[in-house]
Amino acid sequence: MAGGGNAIRGSRVGAGPMGEAERGEAAPRKAVTYFCAREHRSVVTFAVEATAPDSWDCPKCGLPASLDCDNPPPAPKIEPYKTHLAYVKERRTDAEAEVILDEAIQLLRSRRKSGDIIF
Ligand SMILES: [Zn+2]
Repeated sequence: MAGGGNAIRGSRVGAGPMGEAERGEAAPRKAVTYFCAREHRSVVTFAVEATAPDSWDCPKCGLPASLDCDNPPPAPKIEPYKTHLAYVKERRTDAEAEVILDEAIQLLRSRRKSGDIIF
């Protein structure tokens, strides 16, 4: 008796007086999934009558994302620090990696001095 009664009371409380969670959403919508080069999966909701664009900026990292999970668009060179580090990794030269890191840190510090507090 106790178990069944509790379950029914719980569901009633969760539903609320209106009884429907989707009230006010009269326009039907569709969810479109985009994939970026960093393997983020982002679901963007469009109105059904709208045409989903082939690409969408990833909300997580800002890189362009596409509808094809097997072929996301390549990351543009907006982050030179990472690109340099990738080169260094290919060449496996730890000493140069430290130089690149140091340059990146100095770049961050100079940005902070210019007024924008990043951290
Ligand atoms: Zn992303």
